[in-house]
Amino acid sequence: MKPVIAANWKMNKTSGRAAGFVESLKKRIKKTDKDIILCVPFTDLSAVADKIKKTKIRLGAENVFYGEKGAFTGEISPSMLKSSGCEYVIIGHSERRKYFNETDRIVNKKIKASLKHGLKIILCIGENLSQRRKKQEKKIVWKQLRMCLKGIPSALMKHIIIAYEPVWAIGTGHTAAPEQAEEMHKHIRSIAGNKTRIIYGGSVTPKNIRSLMKQKDINGVLVGGASLSIEKFVKIVNC
Ligand code: PEP
Repeated sequence: MKPVIAANWKMNKTSGRAAGFVESLKKRIKKTDKDIILCVPFTDLSAVADKIKKTKIRLGAENVFYGEKGAFTGEISPSMLKSSGCEYVIIGHSERRKYFNETDRIVNKKIKASLKHGLKIILCIGENLSQRRKKQEKKIVWKQLRMCLKGIPSALMKHIIIAYEPVWAIGTGHTAAPEQAEEMHKHIRSIAGNKTRIIYGGSVTPKNIRSLMKQKDINGVLVGGASLSIEKFVKIVNC
């Protein structure tokens, strides 16, 4: 399976800075067999789309709404993302779940609408700290997957990348140990099947990337904080 290195810039970088970042990235990445996906704020999409023309870098958004069009002030539809050059969209990130009350039911609607318009999905799942302390992590991700993927035909699973992101590891500097992540990825694979790429997210850095990528069921990473630094991100991509 083709490895994935995906960036999630979150609410960072104006369009000028985004364009400058991609210019440097293009010069500094080695020839690679990996899928490099930049998931950027809506306001940076067109600047990044312009810069990645004729490169192998792929463009993604960080969120989408499930409606097609209409009176949904401030929202962005899947077809709008498509027409802005997006190939991917992150759905169900834990920050969307926490700050914007996104439920598995909403995530499911967003996935269905996005697939209908030919977008590929990076679906985020993962347990929080108190669930991990109670040893509920496997049950939690099983439940999330069942609800988020409800009604999605298995033939479409090839368009979905699952990002296992333990909430306690996001932005905290506490990366899951490679073996700990691998155990969860194996569990997720037993539910999502052999053809689905499963990537890890949570405090990935140039220091821990190699040990994570060595794990059998880890097909790549979703990088937040470290993807904002050109130095760190280039090291991760070129690992
Ligand atoms: C993320 O937000 O998806 C993420 C993995 O963040 P960080 O790498 O900063 O933990």
